[in-house]
Amino acid sequence: MRLENKVALITGSARGMGRAAAELFAREGASIILTDIAEQEGVETAQSIQAAGGKALFVPANVARAADVQHLVETGVSTFGAIDILYNNAGIMPAADTSVIETSEETWDHIMDVNLKSTFLCCKYTLPYMQQQKGGSIINISSMVVFLGSTVPQEAYGVSKSGLLALTKSLAVQYGPMGIRCNAICPGPINTGLLDHLWTSEEERNRRLQRIPLGRFGLINDIIYFALYLASDESSWTTGTWMTIDGGISSNYF
Ligand code: NAD
Repeated sequence: MRLENKVALITGSARGMGRAAAELFAREGASIILTDIAEQEGVETAQSIQAAGGKALFVPANVARAADVQHLVETGVSTFGAIDILYNNAGIMPAADTSVIETSEETWDHIMDVNLKSTFLCCKYTLPYMQQQKGGSIINISSMVVFLGSTVPQEAYGVSKSGLLALTKSLAVQYGPMGIRCNAICPGPINTGLLDHLWTSEEERNRRLQRIPLGRFGLINDIIYFALYLASDESSWTTGTWMTIDGGISSNYF
């Protein structure tokens, strides 16, 4: 098993890619600290991992709040004894995030809090334990949108995800000498509920599909198996970098 004896904290793990990553990492031998604002689905995910023979603990938390994150990290460490993998996955993409003119200050702040401040907080409270352990792997979920402009703007989302790349590189440099790695993944459009509000018609869907050289939208497994590599010791000389996984969209001029 690729994650035997490791403990992984995965944010936003009640649904979507976070849930699938929790299930995959558990099958690969890791003990999982799940967290989400969606309590019922989080508890159900932990129970399904346990029913399959894995180790999992669900701690409800809004990862944009310092007190919640501190409690989450302390509860996880007191249950499993360590955090070897921090997978910053929780994120939102509200429909109210559009152009700079139309986006409200509240929407901007909310997206920055959930997508960017959450990762700052999770790193802030987890890194001291990783320093004591002299090792760890941090995985930040950014997005392909950080590399491209779009005529359908989502300004706060793109800026929040760009901030994650800056943080990724800075943490890699500061904590590399302590054996702590930090990398990012930049997914293209993946088939989860997150994008439903963008794809309101078949025409909207096809407009995006035509831009994808590999001819399909992404699957959850396209992302989480790369995260598994970053979480495992197989990537022990990989830090401060990112992988764009987007079916080739960001290489497509015409
Ligand atoms: P999702 O909506 O299915 O899952 C996100 C999870 O985060 C949900 O369970 C949600 O409840 C949780 N969450 C939201 N706010 C939270 C908070 N404040 N505290 C704790 N948990 C919170 O979305 P997904 O598609 O699985 O996305 C996962 C990550 O991947 C996000 O960061 C997203 O921005 C990123 N991403 C997704 C796509 C895509 O096409 N789906 C593309 C690029 C990047």
